Amino acid sequence: MQSIIRSIGLALASSTLCACVNISQNGSSKSTGNAAANTVGRTDGIAPGCARTELAAGNQRFLKGGMAAHAWQQEKVVKTGEFGQSPSVAILSCSDSRVPLEIIFDQGVGDLFPVRTAGFVNCVEATGTFEYGVLALGVNTMMVLGHTKCGAVNATLEGKPLPGSIPMIAKAIQPAVADLLKNKKDATVNDLMNAAVEANVRYQMKQVMGSSEMLRKAQADGKLTLLMAIYDVDTGEVRFLD
Ligand SMILES: [Zn+2]
Repeated sequence: MQSIIRSIGLALASSTLCACVNISQNGSSKSTGNAAANTVGRTDGIAPGCARTELAAGNQRFLKGGMAAHAWQQEKVVKTGEFGQSPSVAILSCSDSRVPLEIIFDQGVGDLFPVRTAGFVNCVEATGTFEYGVLALGVNTMMVLGHTKCGAVNATLEGKPLPGSIPMIAKAIQPAVADLLKNKKDATVNDLMNAAVEANVRYQMKQVMGSSEMLRKAQADGKLTLLMAIYDVDTGEVRFLD
C-alpha cells in the first residue's frame, strides 16, 4: 500500500511539472515531469503532442546548467540494443558542429532521429529517412531546426562560386531566399541572414512534406506533429516558430 501511495505521490508531483506523459514501448504510460525525469530516470520516449514542451524544457536545462545526469542512459543502451529503437522526434538540422541535437535538447539514447546536412537542406534520402522513422519506428514529431550564422545559408546569400558538390547545397537553399534577395533594400547583413535562416526552415519543411504523401497522410491522421525552430549559436537558445 505504501508503495502505491508513494507512486501516486510521485506521479502527482511529476504531473504538476508537465502534463505530458511518456509512452513506453509496451504501450503503458507514466507521468514524468521535466525535472522529475532527471531524477527518477526516464526510460521511455516523448509522447505524441509533447515534443515542443519536452524539447523546450530540455533546452532550458541545457541553458541553465541543469542538464540531466542521464542516469537512464545505460538502461536505454541495454533496452534499445535488445528490443530496438523507437525514437519520438525526427529532426532535419544543419551539420554545423555547434548544433549537437541531443546536447542542446538534453535528450538521451534512442530519443531523436536526426538527419543533418549543411544548410539543413532536404533531399530524397532525408525524406525517406523521415518516412522510415514514422512508418517503422513510431516517430510522432518531425522538426526542421535552423540555426543562426549558418555558413551554408550565408554562402547562398553571397552567391560566390563554390567548388565540388557544394553548389548543390546552395542550389537547394536558393529558392528559400530568392524573394528576400530581391527585396532586401536596406536590410543589414545580420537581418538578412536571420530572415534567410527562418525562410529556409519554412521552405525545407515544405520540401519534406511536399515530397511525401506518406508524411502528409500521417499529419492528416493526427499521427505526426510538425515543429520548426531556430537555434542561436551565440546564446544556446532554441526559438520555436509558429
Ligand atoms: Zn548551418
